[in-house]
Amino acid sequence: MSITNNRLTPSAYEQNFSDIHPPFETRDAALVEANRCLFCYDAPCMKSCPTGIDVPKFIKQITTDNIRGSAHTILSANIMGGGCSKVCPVEKLCEGACVYNLMDEEAIPIAKLQRYSTEKAIAQKWKLFERKPGNGKKVAVVGAGPAGLSCAHGLAREGTEVTIYEKESKGGGLMTYGIAAYKVTPEFCQEELDYIISIGGISVIYKQELGKDITLDTLCKEYDAVYLGFGVGLARQLSIPGEHLDGVVDAIRFIYDIRTNAYAQVSVGDKVAVIGMGMTAIDAATQARRLGAKEVTLVYRRTEEEMPCTEEELSIAKQDGCGITWLASPKEIIGVNGKATQLICNRMQLGEPDAGGRRSPVDTGETITLEVDMVIKAAGQMPFETLANNDHLANNNGKLLISDQCATNIKGVFAGGDCVNGGKEVVDAVQAGKDGAKAILRYLQLTT
Ligand code: SF4
Repeated sequence: MSITNNRLTPSAYEQNFSDIHPPFETRDAALVEANRCLFCYDAPCMKSCPTGIDVPKFIKQITTDNIRGSAHTILSANIMGGGCSKVCPVEKLCEGACVYNLMDEEAIPIAKLQRYSTEKAIAQKWKLFERKPGNGKKVAVVGAGPAGLSCAHGLAREGTEVTIYEKESKGGGLMTYGIAAYKVTPEFCQEELDYIISIGGISVIYKQELGKDITLDTLCKEYDAVYLGFGVGLARQLSIPGEHLDGVVDAIRFIYDIRTNAYAQVSVGDKVAVIGMGMTAIDAATQARRLGAKEVTLVYRRTEEEMPCTEEELSIAKQDGCGITWLASPKEIIGVNGKATQLICNRMQLGEPDAGGRRSPVDTGETITLEVDMVIKAAGQMPFETLANNDHLANNNGKLLISDQCATNIKGVFAGGDCVNGGKEVVDAVQAGKDGAKAILRYLQLTT
């Protein structure tokens, strides 16, 4: 058993990481699906979108070939509507709410139709939004992820000058660095970012990390307001013996490496265990298989009923040949010559529901052993608690506390997205950025 790179041929990598949800091949194919829409009054699909995209309206516009109008409808509610059409778990959002589900028929492929319009807008650089004349105000945004970009766009449209400080060398945040490559490519993320900032009035400065290269104190002095959208990023530790061994990696780093290197350069084991059952765990497991791992096993301490990922995500993992060990909680990683060789897990059973209503796993006293050469930890992400405390930002275990006006405890400093909620969907972060922009405009007395 060994961890190696360059396991597959270039064409195998290309095939394994190709678009999992390809676009419509023809205009007619899109029109057929758009014309199935019932254009429901009080549409449930629209209500289930965190950004409130007017789904029946944009689909109606597609039926009349008004693609520009359709893109405007989508992007005025969600400026990252292109990216969201590729990465949103629509089965639990708009498509899950489509009335066709009640009739046991296929839901309208809302995401694919959304992609149909927004990809054209981005590729052809349609100028759908006009920036108002400058209002003389300057705002700093920390983080060029979905929350930061959405906030920046909302502010720039109203004539505010925005400077985004991003710690990485590219923007897009989770979209660029934290999602499976077969869902969205880094190239698309860059095109989407370029499109968003093409409205004008937004500059992005890369390699600027809060607390290292820039300080909150300085930003507060130099700008009229500050928006914090720096996300979460630290992988939760397992706190079990053997976590330090070679071959034990965290899923955030593993996915980041896939997103920033050629596939052939990313190393993967023969026998991989992935700990966790959220979207990040699924993305890590499926990509480990697609990089050429012989066996991948997801390890989760509860059952399918309690798993955080969707059925759709689970089925991708199964189709990729990933195994699943339910009701198992990591106890220890055994190593030989400093390298991980076995993952020992406690066998669990479900007990009483916890405060959130999910049944808690209880140790049965039995153990199971998985032979491994790689263990990928995907048991959640931790907010930047030290950063929050160093800057005297009120927080709850690192999650920033904000008012209903998106304001932190520091005057003029606002926040939203994953650094506040601890990690939700991209579309939730986009909405948080919209809310942040509105709150800042009110604070600057540019709107009521
Ligand atoms: Fe169309 Fe379905 Fe939305 Fe109704 S619920 S408007 S059928 S997409």
